[in-house]
Amino acid sequence: MRLLLVEDDPTLRAQLRAALVEAGYVVDEAADGREALHLGETEPFDAVLLDLGLPGMDGLTVLRRWRDAGRTTPVLILTARDRWHEKVAGIDAGGDDYLAKPFHIEELLARLRALIRRAQGLASPLLTCGAVALDTRSGRVTARGQPVPLTSHEFRLLAYLMHRPGSVVSRTELTEHLYAQDHDRDSNTIEVFVARLRRKLPPGAIETVRGLGYRLAAVP
Ligand code: CA
Repeated sequence: MRLLLVEDDPTLRAQLRAALVEAGYVVDEAADGREALHLGETEPFDAVLLDLGLPGMDGLTVLRRWRDAGRTTPVLILTARDRWHEKVAGIDAGGDDYLAKPFHIEELLARLRALIRRAQGLASPLLTCGAVALDTRSGRVTARGQPVPLTSHEFRLLAYLMHRPGSVVSRTELTEHLYAQDHDRDSNTIEVFVARLRRKLPPGAIETVRGLGYRLAAVP
């Protein structure tokens, strides 16, 4: 899952980035409103963390512009404490949830998981596809009840597929959602990670749909 982190306070941005990466996300950052607007218009993020008080262009304007342009990416708004009117304005501008600063990182991560899940129509934090289960809260993966140890890269790949059960996901889409913008992308590496992940899952769990991409299959 790829996130856009919009926050102009460098200390808070660095802390959030570290926690998000630790939680298994890839993160692009923007420190001002114009950069955020541009990234959100051009890159496919799974969710956005949006501070409202920003240089260049305020967060509410950025959000309205995205929504006016038809971007439906889930947005979690970060507001200053006691600015209740900002929360109202943020939700009305198209925000999906908000969090008042200061907040506990665990709450931020839980809200983020819920936003990403709901964007795919998934209600439960425990994702299952046949014999494979992924708990988005703990990051644990099991196959037929047995733990499956995954590298962070393999986990991100599986998590993306598990959020889209039954859908064919192209290599381009995977590349766009598993790497940040500044990462040296080579779509061949996706094949390498799919091959590694396949070896750790029950046979047939990841189907190749010729010419189109990959699909998770519910194998018993
Ligand atoms: Ca700010």
